[in-house]
Amino acid sequence: MKHYLQTADEVLAEVGSSYSGLTSEESAKRLSENGPNKLAEGKKTSLFVKFLQQLADPMIIVLLAAAVVSLVTTIISNANNPGEKESFADTIIIAVVVLLNAILGVVQESKAEQAIKALQTMTEATCKVLRNGVVTIVRSQEIVVGDVVLLEAGDNVPADCRILESASLKVEESALTGESVPSDKFAETLTKDVSLGDRKNMLYLGSTVVYGRAKAVVVATAMSTEMGKIANVLNTAKEEKTPLQIKMASLSKILTFIVIGICVIIFIAKFIGAGGQFTLDVVLDSFMVAIGLAVAAIPEGLATVVTIVLSIGVTNMSKKNAIIRKMTAVETLGCAEIICSDKTGTLTQNKMTVVEDYTFDKPLLATAMALCSDATLVEGKAVGEPTECALVNYANENELPKDTLEEAQPRIAEAPFDSMRKMMSTLHKTDTGVIQYTKGAPDEIVARCDRIWKEGKILPMSDKDRKEILAHNAEMANNALRVLAAAFAEYKALPEDVSPEKIERNLVFVGLCGMIDPVRPEVIDAIAQCRTAGIRPIMITGDHIDTAVAIAKQLGIITDASQALLGAKLDEMSDEEFEKTIANYSVYARVQPEHKVRIVTTWKKLGKVCAMTGDGVNDAPSIKSADIGVGMGITGTDVTKNTADMVLADDNFATIVAAVGEGRRIYDNIRKCIQFLLSSNLAEVIAIFVATMCGFTLLKPAHLLWINLVTDTIPAIALGAERAEKDIMSRAPRSKNEGIFAHGLGLNVALHGVFVALITLAAYFVGVYMENGFIEFVDGHNAQGITMAFLTMSMTEIFHAYNNRSSEHSIFTLHSHNKILWFAMIGSLALTTAVIYVPGVNDAFGFVDANGQGVISFAEYVIALALAFAIIPIVELQKLVVRAVKRGKAKKIKA
Ligand code: ATP
Repeated sequence: MKHYLQTADEVLAEVGSSYSGLTSEESAKRLSENGPNKLAEGKKTSLFVKFLQQLADPMIIVLLAAAVVSLVTTIISNANNPGEKESFADTIIIAVVVLLNAILGVVQESKAEQAIKALQTMTEATCKVLRNGVVTIVRSQEIVVGDVVLLEAGDNVPADCRILESASLKVEESALTGESVPSDKFAETLTKDVSLGDRKNMLYLGSTVVYGRAKAVVVATAMSTEMGKIANVLNTAKEEKTPLQIKMASLSKILTFIVIGICVIIFIAKFIGAGGQFTLDVVLDSFMVAIGLAVAAIPEGLATVVTIVLSIGVTNMSKKNAIIRKMTAVETLGCAEIICSDKTGTLTQNKMTVVEDYTFDKPLLATAMALCSDATLVEGKAVGEPTECALVNYANENELPKDTLEEAQPRIAEAPFDSMRKMMSTLHKTDTGVIQYTKGAPDEIVARCDRIWKEGKILPMSDKDRKEILAHNAEMANNALRVLAAAFAEYKALPEDVSPEKIERNLVFVGLCGMIDPVRPEVIDAIAQCRTAGIRPIMITGDHIDTAVAIAKQLGIITDASQALLGAKLDEMSDEEFEKTIANYSVYARVQPEHKVRIVTTWKKLGKVCAMTGDGVNDAPSIKSADIGVGMGITGTDVTKNTADMVLADDNFATIVAAVGEGRRIYDNIRKCIQFLLSSNLAEVIAIFVATMCGFTLLKPAHLLWINLVTDTIPAIALGAERAEKDIMSRAPRSKNEGIFAHGLGLNVALHGVFVALITLAAYFVGVYMENGFIEFVDGHNAQGITMAFLTMSMTEIFHAYNNRSSEHSIFTLHSHNKILWFAMIGSLALTTAVIYVPGVNDAFGFVDANGQGVISFAEYVIALALAFAIIPIVELQKLVVRAVKRGKAKKIKA
């Protein structure tokens, strides 16, 4: 079927539709028969493959190797000492833990995937269609053959369509043709067969409307579209790792090497200790220690915890109207130093009302404004874009309802609005010929007028007229009003060429309308918050400089008009000049989309992390060049939403600031988890190393794994849910180049590692002493000592999790509670107690004496608890010193 060779009526008949579209019943029927309008997705990775991928992690390979070594060592040692059978408990426990960890990883990853999927459906593409003759917004997936779609600048074409009507339509279809210059499109029937790029009356899925408007009927959906034929499968976006996840991966590689290094040292030490004799016993013994160390040093839960915290954070943000489209944005948000924002709708409410006018003929002004707009009047209320609605309402209040006006003067052609020209024109049939109305930014309109409508006639426009108009414009703008001007031109017949360059000149000036657009009250607070958080808010607007300055002052963005710059002035500056002076400006007025790109790239050149909002069809480049591209959920075009890293469901500037706070909190919490987990691993390594060098067994691999997974991972996940610290928005933004160990994290890990190791070693000696008296501790293996060490280390971790709620502030001054952490701590404590006391389980872990009885008395349990609790005052003391040192430093800087 070559729809481009058929007339529009023939195509409509073929697809069983009409100019007023399908009924909802018919479209529902077609949808259920033919399926959704969706390209097939690439094959999903199976659960089993995902599971194998988890096992391919270098840390897990070390653990698996440890399990195999432990198996072999046990077999050999059992063969050598048939009398003393060692159990396979270690091997089994390591294997079980590795499997559990991999399963947990798979479950978590698919949960994270689901969370992201849910977000994607929140920003799913929609499209305007005619259903039962009424304009309805539906998900693009629900579009069926025969649907009549309405498209305008910025819209993605949702399926393959034949154009029915068009106005100055330009479409970019590089995805299909490779041609990036937008091509003109129209509704006329073609007469000869041509290649896809030349089918001027067709629109194809995967292309974008960049200018003008169209009404088109869908002729193919999903895999039957041209895109479906060439794409075959949609390349599902590759899962992107965030910078932090990449850093964690390289950290785990480093840790793996360190583990291997330590094992070699121990091997050599044992070898020397054995007088250079490499007997089987020495080898087996060294292997066992190596396994223990490998298990001790590897933070098994770390990657999982980071993924969980990130995905929970992203879901939280979506509840606050910030929908993350690229995971990396979560981290970058916390580093944001500059937020560039559009004015209309983001800083203001975009609820326009005309409150002032200036004209010699109010009815003509109202007529021109209402007819030269795309808003319509439905049951006495204007529907459409807010600026245009205000004008249609204004006409209506002056007893000039748009529908009546349009009946008398139907629209026959138009030059649609674009933010480069800052104006639009429509041409209407009248009894005597054709009249053109043009409305737009007053400065631009006045520049194109050579006459004025005054005293009921067209008069030449004098310099005095010009001055007067611009003075009125300035006065309204200074009162924070958005001002539009209207003009007209008359023709005998419709001009052949209705391109803007041809028709938007030699106009007759009619008047000005001033609209109020109240600021969003919550933005005032958000701007103040930006200030304390070291973030610079910047307003970028297409509006008049006086309006921009007035609103920016109301919001607290600037205090003086000298902090505002005109787009035209920016054009006059060289790059060097702009780099030097950029810090002077926080408002840019009468800008064009390319100015936005220049502002972002210059700030970035100066090393600043920059967020930029955008809504219009031409904003995609600036959104792309920003560190955090922010799209608008309500007023944004498909093009900008698709390039954005984050989409605001409510178009609100305050949401960006809230997202920055959330980004900071998430990063903070991940740091808390990392600090907690790594300090625990270090404690294990130190304790095991000391014990090995002294010749006794402190903890066995199975014990260490238990601690890593039960008393570390569970509280760590809870730490990830920690609420924001009080000062989160009064700190300076984090540097984006900052490493994981910045701000004393490395020192904290080292110190806490030593503290926990010392407490554990102390518990071991207490256990040995309470059973055998002091001298007996170096006998290699002591069940009571091991049990005490295990219990104490586990409980120290549980208490230490609480310490990590803040790395600097005392936990007694934190204003919030973390219920999840309490549950996690109590749960871990219960599980740990169970392992020690439940018969059979304690046997497998080796917490029993020769008669198979548990070895820990109540008194010892209490002692272990008390020793463990000591980690809280110790770390509090350390925090006290750190705070004092910091204060001292700050004083010095001040002095
Ligand atoms: P912001 O950039 O803050 O979102 P804006 O709406 O002023 O604000 P643009 O959409 O680029 O930015 O509009 C630029 C100028 O074009 C406006 O200041 C206004 O003078 C004029 N304008 C806006 N909308 C229309 C319209 N529908 N018809 C005619 N002129 C318009």
